[in-house]
Amino acid sequence: MAFYVQKFGGTSVGSVERIDAVANRVAGFVRGGDRVVVVVSAMSGETNRLEALGGEVLRGHPSETQAREMDVLLSAGEQASIALVAMALTRQGCPARSYLGDQVRIRTDANHMKARIESIDTECLLADLDRGVTPVVAGFQGMNESGDITTFGRGASDTTAVAVAAALGVDECRIYTDVPGVFTADPRIVPDARRLDSVTFEEMLELASLGSKVLHARSVEFVGKYGVPMRVLSSFEEGLGTLVTTEDQDMEQPVVSAIAHTRDEAKLTVQGVPDVPGVASRILGPVGEASIEVDMIVQNVGADGLADFTFTVRRADYERAREIVESVQGELEARAVTGDDRIAKVSAVGVGMRSHAGVATRMFDALAAKNINILMISTSEIKISVVVDEHSLEAAVNAIHDAFELGADATA
Ligand code: ASP
Ligand code: MG
Repeated sequence: MAFYVQKFGGTSVGSVERIDAVANRVAGFVRGGDRVVVVVSAMSGETNRLEALGGEVLRGHPSETQAREMDVLLSAGEQASIALVAMALTRQGCPARSYLGDQVRIRTDANHMKARIESIDTECLLADLDRGVTPVVAGFQGMNESGDITTFGRGASDTTAVAVAAALGVDECRIYTDVPGVFTADPRIVPDARRLDSVTFEEMLELASLGSKVLHARSVEFVGKYGVPMRVLSSFEEGLGTLVTTEDQDMEQPVVSAIAHTRDEAKLTVQGVPDVPGVASRILGPVGEASIEVDMIVQNVGADGLADFTFTVRRADYERAREIVESVQGELEARAVTGDDRIAKVSAVGVGMRSHAGVATRMFDALAAKNINILMISTSEIKISVVVDEHSLEAAVNAIHDAFELGADATA
């Protein structure tokens, strides 16, 4: 008998048939004697639809003052799906009850649309379980101190699941999704990519923030912080999925565990700025003030003593970042501002890198052998990222995947 949080994403509850299938699966566990708390997302496409509607009425992005209303709007998708899942479960003979975020007192800070969970009251969940009722909790939403609905950022119902799992102290937090687990690379790009039996939460955190869409990054942070065992698995097929572990395994770690990629990249270069103190902050200060996240930064100084300063942002922020930088170009005495929003980032991730030298060289050699030009490089203890032209992306991912022998053929 085990105690689980089982979270189902938008595609898993995307239609009546799928809701029935989810209910059938959960009911199977409950009949087998397990205790289950279900967390669900909105039906697939629903949050997008609501967000677009809000955008139409607002004629653009929500301002601070409208963010409260946006949260009321965006959280509505989960209100529908929890009711439908609870109804399906009960109809299948497994009594269930739906709960909105504030009904289980998921208390958050005041930040609308990107709130952080502060506490959860598990009392009613435990009371339900004690009398044989399966609670179905809305993902992605909570309530702040003033009693207003807050949401946690797009894709964040995983975070609700892990937070509920941590509060309840369950045996495993199971994230059911539309893929059978975490892969060594995106199987749509790398045909021989392999499902991983386990990854460490540090690796998963890198993968999530580097473009793997399997899990929401903040949910993985919780895994590390509270030591909740989490497993990612398919809601459509049987299988063990991938366990996200908090302990370092005894066994020898592979040098590289997986390759992540993202097309959501753009770069800006401020050319020919005088190489004097304060340049970086004068360029990046206003960008940060506009809440634009900067990822990689490279500065090189030429023989003429002038510096080129390059940084990357998300593609959606490219135009705005460019306008901001152009507006300070004169003040910086920069020669020119150039940019490129057709770039992509490929990253090799693995905790085994810590104890191995020469990982970067192997990656760069693999790219050189395929004649792929590296535009930027950044490294950390457990990852190496390169920026390449978007059209080289697939070749780059495959070359690196091969170089580290991650494919199914390599291990067979
Ligand atoms: N429904 C929310 C979204 O689409 C939360 C989630 O699905 O995780 O962003
Ligand atoms: Mg999701």
